[in-house]
Amino acid sequence: MSFNKKTIRDIHLDGKQILLRADYNVPINDGHITDDYRIKQSLPTIEYLLDRHCSIVVCSHLGRPDGKRDEKYSLAPIAKRLSKLLDKPVQFADDCIGPEVEKQVKALEPGQLLLLENVRFHPEEEANDAGFAKQLATYGDIFVQDAFGVVHHGAVSVSELPKYMPGVAGLLLEKEVDAITSVMENPKRPLMAIIGGAKISDKIEFLERFIELADFVAIGGAMANTFLLAEGIHTGHSLTEPEDVKMAKHLLDKARAKAKSGHFTFYLPQDGVVAKKIDKTSHTRIVDWQAHVIADVEAYPKRPQREASTIQPDESVLDIGPFSGAFIAGGIQLANTVVWNGAMGVTETPALVGPIGPFAHGTELVIEAMTGQFGHRPYSLVGGGDTVGYIEARGEVKFFDHVSTGGGASLELMSGKKLPGVEALQNK
Ligand code: ADP
Ligand code: MG
Repeated sequence: MSFNKKTIRDIHLDGKQILLRADYNVPINDGHITDDYRIKQSLPTIEYLLDRHCSIVVCSHLGRPDGKRDEKYSLAPIAKRLSKLLDKPVQFADDCIGPEVEKQVKALEPGQLLLLENVRFHPEEEANDAGFAKQLATYGDIFVQDAFGVVHHGAVSVSELPKYMPGVAGLLLEKEVDAITSVMENPKRPLMAIIGGAKISDKIEFLERFIELADFVAIGGAMANTFLLAEGIHTGHSLTEPEDVKMAKHLLDKARAKAKSGHFTFYLPQDGVVAKKIDKTSHTRIVDWQAHVIADVEAYPKRPQREASTIQPDESVLDIGPFSGAFIAGGIQLANTVVWNGAMGVTETPALVGPIGPFAHGTELVIEAMTGQFGHRPYSLVGGGDTVGYIEARGEVKFFDHVSTGGGASLELMSGKKLPGVEALQNK
């Protein structure tokens, strides 16, 4: 099934005024944009509209200002960056409603752009307030939704505006939905899913869907610890979700039943990098609780010490170990499509020297394998907020086939959920 909503390519645009919802929720540190991936991804739609002599009013949110004005979350730096990237002036409105803004909106000429201040400075945005929606709807003839990152949450600029003006999709929204649905509906097999990150409870539907759909599911990150608990392995001081052990067991049963009936692999890490503290100076060691391979080799010709295969009560698993990393990388060599969500370890811990932190090596190995550095390069799709943040920070987005701009939205779409911001648009 291809994208069944109207896009800007399906309607007459010439000379129209457009109200564009973009996703400019980018990381900003002290007024400096640290990553402009999302801004760059919004350019094709804007350029398409400008080529058709539209005037454009752009609205977006940034962060969670909780319905109050907070300069920390001002979109002013975005207007500057957007202007630089487009190589043309971008006007900025100090608010998104009120008489001053209305004047600026009215004065817009074809080919001009006006960026409104953060819509979340007003509590009405997230309260789906009809009055607020009606006001914003006066800013244009057509509403264009291009903020994939927010289409999973109802809000005025997501699901309400299309009630008051014709709503169509922008090119980024279409690209995101197309890339993700085509992998879910018609993947080039073998299909592998690599699922990590913090919690099972965040990703239950996602896990279930991929156990049903994929040929190979590999687990990493802190969520693997809960699966290990379910398998009766001591996880020491690791981050786990004891209340989700039952869910982990259910998922394991489901995966094992599928593995029995056909070609399917469900892989839990067999070793991990453990430390007593999440810190760049922590002493780390490898524990291999399954295969005893590293321990056997290291101790040869004696028997390995017991600690080599057991996580101590004061230790935490902070990354997958080298055997697990190699196994997952090997799986990637056999796959033609790889979907990845969730880091394999605590990637945020900085390194003592160099760019790669002490608990980021498993994640690095996944990146290397997915991007073809071991020879075979499958089609690669990445989703998830922190996961995408990591590859952006490493400057490696360009090596993947599709890196989603929407963390939560990509997860929900892959889980098979409907996205209110897409549903609200006009059908083809
Ligand atoms: P995403 O946003 O990409 O979906 P998550 O939010 O689920 O990813 O998970 C990312 C978080 O998981 C990171 O903050 C990372 O530090 C944490 N994490 C991964 N592995 C571990 C681990 N073994 N122990 C503790 N935290 C972990
Ligand atoms: Mg996250």
